[in-house]
Amino acid sequence: MMVRGFWRALIVGAVFCLTAACASEGARPLDAPGTSATTTAQVAPITPSISATTTAQAAPNAPPAVARNVKFNEAGVAFSGFMDKTATFYLRATSDMPVQSVTLNYYYFSSVPYTQTITLDSPQKELDISISGDNDLYVFGDGLGRAVVYRWTLTDTSGAVSVSPRYAEVFKVRNSEYDWRVIVTDHFHVYYYGGGERLARDTIAPAAEDVYVPVTSDFGAALSQQVNIHVYATRADYLGDAAVKWSGGTATAFEMVLSPVSSLSSAKAVIAHELTHNVHNVVARSNKGPSWFLEGLAAYEESKVASTSYANELANSARRGALLPLARLESTTSQDAFVNSMVYAEGYGVIKYLFAQFGKEKFLSLLEEMGKAKSLDMAMRDVYGKGVAEIESDWRASLK
Ligand SMILES: [Zn+2]
Repeated sequence: MMVRGFWRALIVGAVFCLTAACASEGARPLDAPGTSATTTAQVAPITPSISATTTAQAAPNAPPAVARNVKFNEAGVAFSGFMDKTATFYLRATSDMPVQSVTLNYYYFSSVPYTQTITLDSPQKELDISISGDNDLYVFGDGLGRAVVYRWTLTDTSGAVSVSPRYAEVFKVRNSEYDWRVIVTDHFHVYYYGGGERLARDTIAPAAEDVYVPVTSDFGAALSQQVNIHVYATRADYLGDAAVKWSGGTATAFEMVLSPVSSLSSAKAVIAHELTHNVHNVVARSNKGPSWFLEGLAAYEESKVASTSYANELANSARRGALLPLARLESTTSQDAFVNSMVYAEGYGVIKYLFAQFGKEKFLSLLEEMGKAKSLDMAMRDVYGKGVAEIESDWRASLK
């Protein structure tokens, strides 16, 4: 049976928070240690880690509730569009007094809530409503594995308000066309579908375990939970669902999405790269710094486990006198392919220099200082005694 979108979401009830009880269970920040709901699942419908997980953040603004006989029977979110950028919230509820207006509060990324209110044409005791969020959920590089936290407020014809429990749902790669299944390894959940099983089992899973220790050892500690890898069966599927055109993968804390790869060595390269983004996210508490820094770090780790072209590109550009100032390499959204390639190549060079010059421990301190919401420049001054500009000129001098 093909059931799409909203209705499929309702049928796969386990992925939703249907009751007040589940909204209060296991409150924890998304990046905190904890056991994923998928640990023991051998075969998983869609993405089972989309469990109803509340965060430790404050709830969206909620007026004081007045006792009323109101039942919040079902609440959920259906995601659609590129990288799940559109969220449609729905609610089924009953009230002994007719409900006049319905307010949705929700937030994601930060604890600043959005509010949308609808007034019903005719007050109703039985509600079955949905509201599409006005705000795109997608932000470059951060569209995966984040929670939308929301609650509903009902105002009845007497003016009394009833506030629902707080619900939360993680949005990420989600395409109801794919019947995702999972392979569980020591450090990863590898999701695949359709004809992707051999790729997942024989290439992705062993490659991921191979690179796990080399990559995480530079960050001082193992990850507190398994990383979810979603690997697409075809490039076209990847591009259609969750991808930035030129990328081979994307990552946030504990989530990685991969385009299919052709060999074990290319699997190691892309997984080491994305795993670095995962660990970096966790250690620096999502304050990852400018693109040359975060991509340089991923390129550096990638180069430890696979042969890469970053060192050559860097050397060639240096020889031609074509190196760009780091200030021009702060994002990967340039339309200029050369600028984008230098984000990686120069970033690689600087990170390699930092490891060689100051060592692993200091680098880890740098990330931890950034985790205290310091800028890269400020964190560098605290840890290395030099800001970005001075590090940049030292590094350039080292290339001569
Ligand atoms: Zn990257």
